Amino acid sequence: MQRQLAFYVDAERCIGCFTCAMACKNQYHQENGVVWRMVHDLKAEIYPHRERAFYSLACNHCENPTCLNVCPVKAYYKRDKDGIVVHEQEKCIGCGNCIRSCPYGAPKYNPVGKHAEKCSFCWQRVDAGLLPACVQSCPVSALRMVDLADLDETGLVRFPPGFPKFPALNPSVRFRAPKLPTFIRRDEA
Ligand code: SF4
Ligand code: SF4
Repeated sequence: MQRQLAFYVDAERCIGCFTCAMACKNQYHQENGVVWRMVHDLKAEIYPHRERAFYSLACNHCENPTCLNVCPVKAYYKRDKDGIVVHEQEKCIGCGNCIRSCPYGAPKYNPVGKHAEKCSFCWQRVDAGLLPACVQSCPVSALRMVDLADLDETGLVRFPPGFPKFPALNPSVRFRAPKLPTFIRRDEA
């Protein structure tokens, strides 16, 4: 398999602290209201327990990125060497095709720059041998960078409950599902 970098979202570990989302903001200083990474609190219908569970999500750097396919000015490209999907803001004309076509809501419209933008997997950091800012910042290692070509771990899920299932895009993200809370009966305490 060709090298494909991916985010590993460990919902068993994530404590929903938003540090990853803040690290992304701190790295790129997006305009107010423009968010590339968001921490999603799983709804009670998906995770019906009093302890909460979270998915930290951004662009999935899909194997078949629809954003790239619908862009009329080729502002997107997918890197051969690691599969990162890069958006070139300076080429973008802000038509919104990618924003409408991505079922994961990853590209966002920047009303000041009048262009789309999204998570870049911090490719400049990766090329310098560093981790993406979000991954580096997580205090509990709930967000990791992995290469799908050599990811060999059992129990991972591609489309957990609450994550939109679009296998045709083959999103480059893997999940460890949240664990069920431990119930302690009064007479056992
Ligand atoms: S998640 Fe959306 S923006 Fe990211 S690569 Fe896939 S289709 Fe493109
Ligand atoms: S920094 Fe880690 S623990 Fe905090 S919300 Fe992000 S993934 Fe979860």
